[in-house]
Amino acid sequence: MSAVTLALLPTGEHLLTFDRPNSSANIFDIPTLLELRETLDTLPSSSTGLIFLSAKPSIFIAGADLNALESLSGEDLRNFIELGQSVFNRIASLPIPTVAAIHGACVGGGYELCLACNWRIATPDRATKIGLPETQLGILPAWGGSTRLPRLIGVPAALDIILNGKTLPAKPARRRGLIDDIVPRELLVPTALKWIQSRQPRQPRSQILDRISAAIAAPVARRRMEAKSRGHYPALPKALRAVTQGAFGPVPVSLHRELTYVLDLATTPECRNLIRVHYLTERAKKLRATTLATLPNGIPTPPSQPANIQQTAVIGAGVMGASIAQWLSSRGLRVLLRDIDPDRVSAGVSRISSLYSSAVKRHILTSTEARDGLDRISPSASQTPLAGIDLIIEAAVEKMPLKKQIFTTLDATTSPGTILATNTSALSITDLASTLAHPGRVLGIHFFNPVHRMPLVEVVTGEKTSPETAQTALRFVQKIGKLPVLVRDSPGFLVNRILLPYMVEAGDLFAQGSPAAEVDAAMLDFGMPMGPLRLIDEVGLDVAEDVAATLAAAFPGHMHLPAVLTRMLAAHLLGKKSGAGFYLHSRDKALPNPAATQYRDAVIPPPLTRMAMQRRMVLLMVNEAARCIAEKVVAAPADVDFGMIMGAGFAPFRGGPLRYADSVGIPFITEALREEATRSGSHFVPCQLLEEMTQSNRKFYADP
Ligand code: NAD
Repeated sequence: MSAVTLALLPTGEHLLTFDRPNSSANIFDIPTLLELRETLDTLPSSSTGLIFLSAKPSIFIAGADLNALESLSGEDLRNFIELGQSVFNRIASLPIPTVAAIHGACVGGGYELCLACNWRIATPDRATKIGLPETQLGILPAWGGSTRLPRLIGVPAALDIILNGKTLPAKPARRRGLIDDIVPRELLVPTALKWIQSRQPRQPRSQILDRISAAIAAPVARRRMEAKSRGHYPALPKALRAVTQGAFGPVPVSLHRELTYVLDLATTPECRNLIRVHYLTERAKKLRATTLATLPNGIPTPPSQPANIQQTAVIGAGVMGASIAQWLSSRGLRVLLRDIDPDRVSAGVSRISSLYSSAVKRHILTSTEARDGLDRISPSASQTPLAGIDLIIEAAVEKMPLKKQIFTTLDATTSPGTILATNTSALSITDLASTLAHPGRVLGIHFFNPVHRMPLVEVVTGEKTSPETAQTALRFVQKIGKLPVLVRDSPGFLVNRILLPYMVEAGDLFAQGSPAAEVDAAMLDFGMPMGPLRLIDEVGLDVAEDVAATLAAAFPGHMHLPAVLTRMLAAHLLGKKSGAGFYLHSRDKALPNPAATQYRDAVIPPPLTRMAMQRRMVLLMVNEAARCIAEKVVAAPADVDFGMIMGAGFAPFRGGPLRYADSVGIPFITEALREEATRSGSHFVPCQLLEEMTQSNRKFYADP
């Protein structure tokens, strides 16, 4: 069976179709590239045009085979890259018009093939996504993308796509010039034929204007890139050079530059870690409770069919409830949104409307899709019956007595088949379910804030959560386009548990005299997307205190409630929601809040350097992450690392806290914790697992 077929059309043109056997995706591995080359060899000289098409339902070509990139090295890797370049050069130099007819994901190497064509047309479908995400994997487009994209759309626009690793839906892709036309799927081939037959010459770009705009754009892009990446992503400066230099001069010289750079980048630890994150993401998309021997709560998982969730309800129309309702409705689900307070219901509906408007503005949804989504939400401020609802997600305030009351009523008034989930940040699922008649249907489905941006959802199993409930919840989370991680019920679950000691330490550093901006800069330098004090402001000091209180009560030996938080809360400094916390918040800015300094400790020790602060905050995260493994909060180190990258933005190029610990060495981490414990407090004492691993010279991961 072949992945590439060539067919003659009645009008004299040829249709080249990609359809990788036994797979839902087309990718470019060595055999497919060789087959494509052989197919091009068979193209008769009489052909009047060539159309590239995919037979897959939702993928045009998903890019290069990452396995090859990961496993090949030296000459083999060079040969792979050169093969792709030569096949695409072949397409670019065909004497007949060529059109890429795109439906579905067309990214990386897939789009580089399209760039070698004369024209690109695409369907408007949601599945269609076009772009060059290579820098997100620690490499750069090296099959001509860094050379041909700037020649097509200009250096400034190409830098925006390539440095940010963007993939775009069809409409913005056309606006930026990545494609030439948008047509329904059934019209792809007829429209491609029209483009071929009209043989419209492309307007040549003005070399002078292109050079001027490149000269202006490059330094701006460099400054932005340096500020954002802080030197942690070696692919970015290389991609910047490849694009700015690749736009002009001979194509072979530019392609050679792409090749040299990608060979340098493919072996860096950053690239390895980013590719691992990609694989973990793919794994999360396919994770099934039934393929695990037992759930994190220890219950065996016999095969079971997940229930199909259609009708949902969200209890609580606050920040999280409204955002969850918007997300679910945007994914085609009906949502009953219920709150006890009519004002909160209307505020929730306004929040949902504005989330929809911004999705339309950013071309994520069409205005029809947004209107339909909004129509799927039924807001209610009364005790509307919940008969016929498949899944209820509770997102009321974080107080156990209130949640217990809600769940007791739900247990008594819904059919036993309805799944009862809570979005609690840190309260015990087991405790919540303990008094119910059907505890097997209760679990945590923990979204992160802001819901529309954060990909991770923790699926938390209590002691009695049934495998069927877990299985259905996993499938549901995947169906709504989020990435699940299976977590055993324990205080703070996974992500908040690891984040909290880090955030508390940041609060303590501030209380001990370090400026808020310096504390945050220390962690931005490490590669976090946002500093910890800014994060506390975003989450809300009240919410952070609630979570800290739960965790401090659960782990009194090494967690505590920072006094500075309590003092600031008493002064109504809640963070962003009240306009002031560690920072003063205006529409688009956050500046350090001078008033917050009056809530510092009375005795201020000598100031610390950024490095010293960073070391303390990172060590606490690693120590807590190790405890999560020791306590089997999740099944494996990869779950910790994936959860922290997707749920907290932990520097992805470092591969997560445990991969980071492996890379600097477990003995080094343990020794540093011991030193800090002597110097800065007993909460730094290394956990038993780290001590044992140091003794026995073990690592978290078997691979290097
Ligand atoms: P919020 O205060 O914004 O909203 C809570 C809502 O619950 C309010 O509108 C309130 O009127 C409503 N409510 C109270 N009692 C109710 C009842 N009996 N029935 C129906 N509604 C009731 O809180 P939030 O920030 O949206 O948090 C909700 C839950 O999500 C909490 O458990 C919280 O820990 C969790 N959570 C919050 C975040 C976050 O960043 N804010 C992130 C993840 C999880």
